[in-house]
Amino acid sequence: MLKQFKADTEYMYYSELTVARLKKQGITMIFSDLDNTLVADGAIEAPKQLVEWLTELSENNIKIIIVSNNKSEKRVKEFAQPLGLEYYYKAGKPNPRIYQTILEKHNQLPEETLMLGDRLTTDIYGGNKMGMYTVLVNPIDANEPMGIRFMRGVEWFLKIMVK
Ligand SMILES: [Mg+2]
Repeated sequence: MLKQFKADTEYMYYSELTVARLKKQGITMIFSDLDNTLVADGAIEAPKQLVEWLTELSENNIKIIIVSNNKSEKRVKEFAQPLGLEYYYKAGKPNPRIYQTILEKHNQLPEETLMLGDRLTTDIYGGNKMGMYTVLVNPIDANEPMGIRFMRGVEWFLKIMVK
């Protein structure tokens, strides 16, 4: 049970997920969290470095889909649409139902799919339950609301437990 809270790999930043690493792992699709994984909480515009990373993925036929628990469609859409990315908001992570739906839609195997996120109890736990490859990154912006900060404490504890 606790093992479900352990990411397969941990990086500081999403950009450490290079095409070479993804190919070695046999990954052809990425489900990515948005807030604090790709950009700071609420940031609309993708920085140059992110655009470059997305372009490289696309040139290598690795599809990336935004899967966010953010309740605001506007927020997720304003980020994803200019980049031409398929997106899901109010995704209900860690419930793997949304993952199942997207995998079926794209006829995609979970083993060839990577879940990228900054939260153990939502992104990683759900991804592991679905049998996807999971990658945890450090949150981009530490300036977060109390509820999330509390969960970070829980996640810190879980991390020690599963070491
Ligand atoms: Mg996040």
